[in-house]
Amino acid sequence: MLEDKKQERTTLEKLGEFGLIEHLTQNFTLQQASSLMGIGDDAAVLDFTDNKTAVTTDLLIEGVHFDLSYMPLKHLGYKAVVVNLSDVYAMNATPTQITVSMAVSNRFPLEALEELYAGIALAAKAYNVDLIGGDTTSSKTGLLISITALGEAKEEALTYRNGAKPNDLLVVSGDLGGAYMGLQVLEREKEVFKVNPANQPDLEPYSYIVERQLKPEARKDIKELLGQLEVLPTSMIDISDGLSSEILHLCRKSSVGCNLFEDKIPLDPTVISSCEEFNIDSTMVALSGGEDYELLFTIDQKDFSKIKGNPNLTVIGHMTDANEGAHLVTRANSKIELTAQGWNSFTSEQP
Ligand code: ADP
Ligand code: MG
Repeated sequence: MLEDKKQERTTLEKLGEFGLIEHLTQNFTLQQASSLMGIGDDAAVLDFTDNKTAVTTDLLIEGVHFDLSYMPLKHLGYKAVVVNLSDVYAMNATPTQITVSMAVSNRFPLEALEELYAGIALAAKAYNVDLIGGDTTSSKTGLLISITALGEAKEEALTYRNGAKPNDLLVVSGDLGGAYMGLQVLEREKEVFKVNPANQPDLEPYSYIVERQLKPEARKDIKELLGQLEVLPTSMIDISDGLSSEILHLCRKSSVGCNLFEDKIPLDPTVISSCEEFNIDSTMVALSGGEDYELLFTIDQKDFSKIKGNPNLTVIGHMTDANEGAHLVTRANSKIELTAQGWNSFTSEQP
């Protein structure tokens, strides 16, 4: 996990806005051929030559999207970048640049923002994207951070949500539910800490799921893997809100239905054991948990042999005619209609 350093406090007023930006961004260099001008002019300048450009933005607000009492700022910076890159990968594009905008209250010293930017820098390096600009302003209360990511792809490689056809196979990368169960563990430890601050939590047995929550990774390997396998998904989306709502997005945009098989949903053993411990249904967690940042896509049936047995990919269902609707086929072989339970409705149902 990432280290968090504390102690010194330098107030932001001392530096001023310009000094602050220069200080935070001094170690970022441009690596991408498409980055002609980065930070320091009125606008960045990019050149994607013959490729198409994918652009995506996320806005994260303290108290709504993150809680700094268990999310170190370095992790927040890392995660804020990764969630955007995941959207670029979901287009089957390669991320190339990011911009970072933030509103900061005077509660944050310079050292806190250094931590945030250390996380941003780590993600930028890991995913080979250039920081090419942003905006910085003050906020009355909390921290607000907005990241925009750009990526490039050949036009014919781009994968939209609307290309799935009946009989296409539904495929997911990795495993599901870990980030949600990691959050359950962290929230429980936060309550324990409130009662007894001397209590040091032992998160070791939960390290996989806590890491899925605090330090998620985007599936940068899948575009390359699919390229090697010579499989072009007919549609693709990243799993930020939970499997069921993402399936419904694909169904709606592609005008198809879907049968999802409960016994095919990939779960890590830590997810299964923590679900037992918290008395939560693991299928519900996979369907509605969110924040796994795996990729969900459809492929033509003729491509099945190419992906069969690949440890990174699991076929979890198939698409149908739209009038058949979207269903979960349970282990007991009954059919339940999928509903778009997002994160919120799920937490309110599961005390
Ligand atoms: P302007 O007044 O033209 O908006 P700024 O003084 O806000 O310019 O920004 C100066 C430069 O620093 C620009 O290149 C801008 O993109 C970049 N920048 C501003 N804030 C950030 C930030 N938080 N992270 C990275 N780059 C930033
Ligand atoms: Mg500005």
